[in-house]
Amino acid sequence: MTEMDGQTHAFQADVARLLDLMVHSVYSEREIFLRELVSNAADACEKLRHEALADPALTADCPSFLIRVTIDKAKRTLAVADNGIGMSQEDLASSLGTIARSGTRAFLEKLRADSKDDAQESKPVGNDLIGQFGIGFYSAFMVADHIDVDSRRAGSDAAFRWRSDGKGSFSISPLPLEDAPTRGTNVVLHLNEASGDFLDGYRVEKILRDYSSAIAIPVELVEIGGESSDDEEQGKASEPRRITDGSALWTKPKSAVSEEAYTEFYHGLAGQFDKPALTLHWHAEGRHEYSVLAFVPGSRPFDLFDPARKGRGKLYVRHVLIAQDAEILPGWLRFVRLVVDSADLPLNVSREMIQESPVYSMIKKAVANRVVQELIKLSENDADAYAQVWDHFGAVIKEGLYEDPERRDSLFKLARFATSTHPDGKRSLADYVAALRPNQTAIYYLLGEDVKRLQASPQLEGFRSRGIEVLLLSDPIDAFWVSNALGYDGKPFKSVSQGAADIKSIAPEEGKEAPPSEPPSAHLASLFALMKQQLEEVVADVRASDRLSESPACLIAQEHGLDRRLERLLAEHGQLGSALSKPVLEINPTHPLVIALADRLGDADKTTLDDIIWLLFDEARLMDGEKPQDAGGFAARLTRILMKAACEKPAA
Ligand code: ADP
Ligand code: MG
Repeated sequence: MTEMDGQTHAFQADVARLLDLMVHSVYSEREIFLRELVSNAADACEKLRHEALADPALTADCPSFLIRVTIDKAKRTLAVADNGIGMSQEDLASSLGTIARSGTRAFLEKLRADSKDDAQESKPVGNDLIGQFGIGFYSAFMVADHIDVDSRRAGSDAAFRWRSDGKGSFSISPLPLEDAPTRGTNVVLHLNEASGDFLDGYRVEKILRDYSSAIAIPVELVEIGGESSDDEEQGKASEPRRITDGSALWTKPKSAVSEEAYTEFYHGLAGQFDKPALTLHWHAEGRHEYSVLAFVPGSRPFDLFDPARKGRGKLYVRHVLIAQDAEILPGWLRFVRLVVDSADLPLNVSREMIQESPVYSMIKKAVANRVVQELIKLSENDADAYAQVWDHFGAVIKEGLYEDPERRDSLFKLARFATSTHPDGKRSLADYVAALRPNQTAIYYLLGEDVKRLQASPQLEGFRSRGIEVLLLSDPIDAFWVSNALGYDGKPFKSVSQGAADIKSIAPEEGKEAPPSEPPSAHLASLFALMKQQLEEVVADVRASDRLSESPACLIAQEHGLDRRLERLLAEHGQLGSALSKPVLEINPTHPLVIALADRLGDADKTTLDDIIWLLFDEARLMDGEKPQDAGGFAARLTRILMKAACEKPAA
């Protein structure tokens, strides 16, 4: 780097790493750098438009905005200039020396994880990730040997040049005002050997057309120097060609926008490059006038569960960007990316004041309702497409069942579940209710960590033999909404692992045997009494069960109180003041082990009986995904029983 009077700075370590990757990249779609630079230029214009609301002097000399791309064949440069907000000396150092954007950070994290996975191979990692994440400004080093960024902050009378070859450091030096833009930024790429194709006017024009149709600032292309060998011709600039007029896509009528233009716009808005699963575009008229363009992504954004990243909307007032990350939609719709442009909100208000505006509240509510309606429509008209949406975002939408009781009925139409009879996760509550067994009055559910494990729960046995479907709820949020919701279609939600089962009145399915329901024998009653006495410290009660047909025992939460899964979740988050409540141990009175125990109660060996009782209890805990009450005691008992079995003389 041969900078005479500039200050040299080292790049932040992460940037240096990223740049090294860019310089050595063999990523084939290098043209994305142009998309990144044009979108930065457009952002800079939108920022100045917003600042000028409070300080009109900033744009008094030239109120209109423009992005100009210039290719100079003789100099082998491609430049992207804007008359936006510009950067001060400090801005240059911080914005173009560190990693500010979360997408780039996520990219690096993903890279780190990937390279750990295949540390042995020295393949050029990350090439397929570049396009997915959008690397921002630094992507320009894929095509440039070195880059000059000339910038002048609007309203300032100092300008600076940032320069770097992408090899570890950059310099910043003052720029004489006569060489500087009157305001804004000019990014000049000195193209590398391999990137001469970006000097071709047609190629650049095509890329710009593909990428910039969704940019709300006009974009122009200028070519300097043509094919001609005439010296005079060579240095001449062409007439600027208008690539896009910068009219905002969302203000156009739906019929005037192609699917490609929508997708392109979505890519710019979401910073992710899949095909949207659902595109919604409408203009509201009447009491309030506003336009909305919203997208449900086709894949899950990497920061979906990042609590710092809630707002996914751009809020415009009469085409002026007011807020970049506005929380227009409720948190449980945070996967939707959207633009809302209102004609009714006052232009010169602060973001904070907008939050309190009743018009804004009404718009927010209407937009959320519409999005939910459209999702319901999709679920009714295209089950497969909807299944994908639910797969990606169902866990987020379910947060709404808890947080937004007013919309719960609409959200019940959207919710899909894995059930004991349909474990694929596509069952709706309407499907469930349509398949109720005669005399079934409740919607049964079981909470747990994963569907596979839930399927193996002993608590389900009696339900299964009677053909009763049970919702298998495995997202943490399930425990919360299901205990708050009153019911669906007049049927209450009822946990199969809480309270009495009450399923005796439901007949077993045809071809299946009814679990014998003999009254517990006197022996059985004394066995239960003994068990209750032994397990006094750990269970609230011991009783005969209707819900078991194969397993000897299971644990059930008491009728009034919390489901065991919810209780465990609360305890994990330190939100349970008191200790966990004691469960009820339910025993299968028809199980051969239980019958044998009851029959030999009088002459059984005391230690063995004691061991069996505790092992039954611990086994039930294990089936619920818990550890034995006391691991040492459990192991000792199990070994004693195994010894007994091993040493037993075979029957003669
Ligand atoms: P992002 O645009 O996601 O923030 P980039 O790497 O593209 O990430 O840009 C980094 C930062 O550099 C921007 O946030 C902005 O502050 C600054 N910047 C880049 N280009 C310009 C420009 N043309 N005008 C003003 N600021 C810019
Ligand atoms: Mg950018």
